[in-house]
Amino acid sequence: MTDEVPGFRKIIYLSFPPETCGRPVVCNLAMLHNLSFNILKADISPRHEGSLTLEVSGREDDYRKGLSYLKENGVKITPASQKVFRDEDLCMHCGVCTSLCRTKALSVDMATRRVVFDVERCSACGMCTRVCPVHAMIVDMDDADELN
Ligand code: SF4
Ligand code: SF4
Repeated sequence: MTDEVPGFRKIIYLSFPPETCGRPVVCNLAMLHNLSFNILKADISPRHEGSLTLEVSGREDDYRKGLSYLKENGVKITPASQKVFRDEDLCMHCGVCTSLCRTKALSVDMATRRVVFDVERCSACGMCTRVCPVHAMIVDMDDADELN
């Protein structure tokens, strides 16, 4: 589902237990809760644990109900923004990462010539970690707090 709905928008990371991987719980976000979503990253195999990074948009109350529905179905939800960090001491604002950042979470502020990191736009795709010459970008896949 790719139609954009104006208003509330969040990027979330979902972890699916094996018993949920074969069920259409994400499709039901649209069917039952009137939400739109873009799949930014997926790692799903039948009968195994899986993960999805989703950009969800719609009304905030529908989003809250959608999250409750996912949790009722055993899906662990983490804001993608809790998974990515920039080491401000290491970053030298070279700009290499900005060309690979699809969500524009990393961008050059033309006034200051510094690279700005907008964590709320980040999808935790990890592309920046592959190109940063000083390893300033860190994606932590394990230690993020679950969304309540
Ligand atoms: S590639 Fe690394 S050092 Fe360069 S701007 Fe991006 S985070 Fe900073
Ligand atoms: S992980 Fe890096 S490249 Fe991917 S969206 Fe976040 S800041 Fe951009």
